[in-house]
Amino acid sequence: MEPLTESELRASFVNLTKGEAKRLRLPRDLAESPWGDLDYVGWRDPQSPGRGYFVAPIDDRHVGVALRAPTAGVGGRPSICSLCLTLRSGGVSLMVAPRAGKAGQQGHTVGTNICSDLACSLYVRGKRETGTPGMHETLTVEQRIDRLVGNLETFVARVMSAA
Ligand SMILES: [Zn+2]
Repeated sequence: MEPLTESELRASFVNLTKGEAKRLRLPRDLAESPWGDLDYVGWRDPQSPGRGYFVAPIDDRHVGVALRAPTAGVGGRPSICSLCLTLRSGGVSLMVAPRAGKAGQQGHTVGTNICSDLACSLYVRGKRETGTPGMHETLTVEQRIDRLVGNLETFVARVMSAA
């Protein structure tokens, strides 16, 4: 994806108020993000690990989604990230996103299992290792990227859909 500036990131959030988006903590190493290898940029709040964020290029815009996550992963049993389908033991968290707009204000959320470090793009490219013996994937890296992008679009559509 194209590199984004701090203000572009803040302006992209669909499930935060303007004030919340202004106050959220961005990654400290934003400028050094490996943008060329990212299908979305994701990070955990460096001071409140229970909060996570990602911003993804969807159609011709950028959509940011704020997530709440438990501090620990899902038990010790291997779990699969629903975005990149990487199998990991302990490195996947159930993350919950308030829905955009009125539905979110009324407390409606969408939950899914996501890599706790929000680095799916690096796993599908083999740029980061999980430490868990993986499934034998017959897909090429290109196909795995396409699958990740498709799953990401589906998740974002669920966050943005009317209740
Ligand atoms: Zn993942």
